[in-house]
Amino acid sequence: MNDTNIMVYRMGPGCDLGDVEVGKTYIGRVQGFANFGTFVQLNDRIKGLVHKSNARTTHRERESILVKVLNIRNNGNIDLEEVTIPVYTVEMVEKKSTAVRLSELGGKVGRTVRIEGEIAQIKQTSGPTIFTIVDESGTENAAAFVEAGVRAYPEAELGDMVRIVGEVMMRQNQVQIEVENLTILAGEDAEVVRDRIEKALDMRAEPADIPLLVQSEVMERLRPEMRKVAKIIRRAVFSSQPIILRHHADADGICSGVAIEQAVVSLIRESGGDYDADYFLFKRAPSKAPFYEIEDITRDLDFATKDHVRYGQKMPLVILTDNGSTEEDLPSMKVAQVYDLPILVIDHHHPDAIVDQFLVGHVNPYHVGGDFGITAGMLGTEVARLINPAVENLIRHLPAVAGVGDRSEAPERARFLALVQDTYTEQDCKDIALALDYQQFWLRFNDGRELVKDVLNLTGNTERHRKMVALQVEGANLAIQDQMSASMPHVRHQTLKNGAELFLLDVEIHAHKFTFPPPGKTSGEVHDRLCQQHAGSPVVTIGFGPDFAVLRSRGVMMNIPKMVRELRDEIPGGGISGGGHLVVGSIKFVEGMREEVLSGLIEKISIVQAGMPS
Ligand code: MN
Repeated sequence: MNDTNIMVYRMGPGCDLGDVEVGKTYIGRVQGFANFGTFVQLNDRIKGLVHKSNARTTHRERESILVKVLNIRNNGNIDLEEVTIPVYTVEMVEKKSTAVRLSELGGKVGRTVRIEGEIAQIKQTSGPTIFTIVDESGTENAAAFVEAGVRAYPEAELGDMVRIVGEVMMRQNQVQIEVENLTILAGEDAEVVRDRIEKALDMRAEPADIPLLVQSEVMERLRPEMRKVAKIIRRAVFSSQPIILRHHADADGICSGVAIEQAVVSLIRESGGDYDADYFLFKRAPSKAPFYEIEDITRDLDFATKDHVRYGQKMPLVILTDNGSTEEDLPSMKVAQVYDLPILVIDHHHPDAIVDQFLVGHVNPYHVGGDFGITAGMLGTEVARLINPAVENLIRHLPAVAGVGDRSEAPERARFLALVQDTYTEQDCKDIALALDYQQFWLRFNDGRELVKDVLNLTGNTERHRKMVALQVEGANLAIQDQMSASMPHVRHQTLKNGAELFLLDVEIHAHKFTFPPPGKTSGEVHDRLCQQHAGSPVVTIGFGPDFAVLRSRGVMMNIPKMVRELRDEIPGGGISGGGHLVVGSIKFVEGMREEVLSGLIEKISIVQAGMPS
């Protein structure tokens, strides 16, 4: 072996104990003598001892000496052995970051540590100021105290990179640092830390590479976009950015929202921070309209700006599921843009390309040649698994519930049903979907975060799940029967020139109002019954009120969003808006123009291709 290959290290000026490695040989300097050995400095701050039994030659103070590290004791003392090597190569040791990673704090209770990270939240309590710090490994709180209720380090702001020295304590069963000193990093120091955290967060946010729950060509093609949105969501969690999830208030929308909720909430809990962080960092809210209404964005912004000012929270990431891909969402998206809110969409409604300029991600089967048969609940569950694979067993039945709830006719529906057939029959899934719709009706704008878990059997209390679903289904069916016996006799019928059977029902005067089922679902139930009575024929059902109509169809090649756009141009003063899926949707108009709008609509339906597959 060539002697010049022997490597000897010289400690850089900033290095400390964390940079010393057992077994390596360093160039030191003799600092002083004791009767048991020689003290050797590796740099200004690191010193060790060559016990006299490990000495090879005699030295004078300040002489160079080669020492091999035998051991680093728990108290930080370094045991050295003198070595004599005639020829060697010297390498400088650069200072590694000596900051402790936040994920390691649990093992350092009672010790004083140095951490580096970004301020993700600043909360003033009646006692200390609580800084929530994020680094590449996790999230923890640092408490700084000057005087009860007085803001400590007022110069430190949200988003600053800081270095904190303090003792690690346990508070309410969670790790916290009692700040002795907080330094705001500036210039290159801040850049170095920010860069390190960014790179590590980016890697950490990368979703796991796992196969889909079921075979699906369409979803396979959506995988890159699903991975992209999962990564954005994981990053938000790891950097303590609040998340607002808005979803359509039906069974499919609820399934998509709840699947993502389970993944996000468990990931928030895993990554540290406050014990109730999952409650204030994640909010799920149903949207009554089938799009992100101005009312929704206004409420969301109202809360977000207050939380920002009051609790020093970051502005949120907005996730829209079973919603968010149409022109109708634009006004809200423009408002969100003013506040720099990133929005991502997981939807299966026919998308309008114009929304994409407002979105940071958009999962939609239409982008890859699929259609609404791949429901939002299916997509949401697959994205949820990418966010946190640990929740898979909890949520794997949600796509089946979503599929039957939205009457999917895609082959994936059967595959998702087969996936869970040992635990849930198709009828079970239909019952759960109906129970979700019924419960959501009474929840109105509330998310029912805990209640909905029983309906979906996520709590492990299967007995309560069964009782609850059975009662909700019974209540829903009674209400539907009531509604049908009142409505069905008033349905008007005509055969259109394309052969489609058209049925009209005024749900305003021939159905119970302000109760379950609401107009949309009432029209759907009427449509189902008419489809059965006219098996083999194309069927269109229009349920209308004073200023709206809901459409359901079978065997008719409609494009409702396109019809709505055309009617808007053709009927000036109609006040027309709306959309939905191609064959299921709704339209709004001004009351005084109802007859014109309805006859225009029927005219359009009568000229599209209709016919049942033989
Ligand atoms: Mn849906």
